[in-house]
Amino acid sequence: MKKELLHLFPDELKQILTERGIPGYRAEQITQFAYAYVPFEEMSNLPKDLRLKLSEEFTVRTAEAEATLVSKDGTVKYLTALPDGNRVECVFMRHDYGDTLCLSTQVGCRMGCKFCASGQYGLVRNLSAAEMLGEVLLVNSLQGGTPKKRAITNLVLMGCGEPFDNYDNTVRFLRLVSQKEGINISCRNISLSTCGLLDRLEQFINEGLPVTLAISLHAAIDAKRKEVMPIANKYTVQQTAEAAKHYANATGRRVIFEYALMHGFNDTEEDISAIKKLTLGFSCHVNLIPLNEVKESSLKGVTRAQAQEFLQKLTKRGVSATLRRTTGADISGSCGQLRQKYMDGDKK
Ligand code: SAH
Repeated sequence: MKKELLHLFPDELKQILTERGIPGYRAEQITQFAYAYVPFEEMSNLPKDLRLKLSEEFTVRTAEAEATLVSKDGTVKYLTALPDGNRVECVFMRHDYGDTLCLSTQVGCRMGCKFCASGQYGLVRNLSAAEMLGEVLLVNSLQGGTPKKRAITNLVLMGCGEPFDNYDNTVRFLRLVSQKEGINISCRNISLSTCGLLDRLEQFINEGLPVTLAISLHAAIDAKRKEVMPIANKYTVQQTAEAAKHYANATGRRVIFEYALMHGFNDTEEDISAIKKLTLGFSCHVNLIPLNEVKESSLKGVTRAQAQEFLQKLTKRGVSATLRRTTGADISGSCGQLRQKYMDGDKK
């Protein structure tokens, strides 16, 4: 099998080229083309025999757009095909603070959260660091960007998959995507969302990658969280909050708790009190999301008005919280839903 060029840092590429008798300055040219997501055949200022030689050993592009859905609100959802035919989703969203790509870290997921479409078929495989980078470079180029003049300024690791269940590749990807010689997206503009693999989170604190951490909480009461998130059998809500606090204190960054509102399940007064208790004493924020109802789940979403009411009650209790704007609802907006449609043979 060919090697992934995007897996390499510029220094590593330089060393490989030198070993093969190719002058080091070629590494810079190749890197620039690769980050523009240009395949070897089109690297116009490289000699033809060099292009051929490289293409025998390496591939550049790791993801191709198979389907593109454009929402009325400007959100664009891409179903991307990986070299082995597997598919993942990524979503391009326009925000005031910058244009953001939501990308996937695994094909499927094995965390088994009841409300989530990504995990309904289990985990197929991890994405490599180069495949994650490929999602970013693919969409950046399709949106008219270049490595220097980027169409994407922010990233959220909130697509299919659990980033901390694919730890090494995710960490390598974060280093690749944030390095100056590449597309140079600063860790400060990247959010990583985890369902709460706390052993990995502790490890991550020592990587020195100051990304915004989001933790999928969805219930602040252990018994309820266990009903919808298997990870809650391993770590309690209290332990999760302590790890979040450790992250906030170690990095100086505010931690986000994601909370998908499920009608009659996690939107009661006792839930508000539990959230209040959990979020005391450190820099954190609650991001409310009206649940996107998925097939084969009895969990119910809330209306916008019910979500607003819950938000008001929370903020009245002094909890920092916002209600997430829903984007792309008309194009199977949330994680795993488009891939699910494809797997069910419904290509609408
Ligand atoms: N595995 C990671 C990241 C992927 S999901 C995690 O669990 O955080 C990104 C976010 O979308 C998570 O907060 C997830 O719980 C949430 N989510 C998944 N399915 C959803 C749905 N049907 N409605 C609303 N939010 C959902």
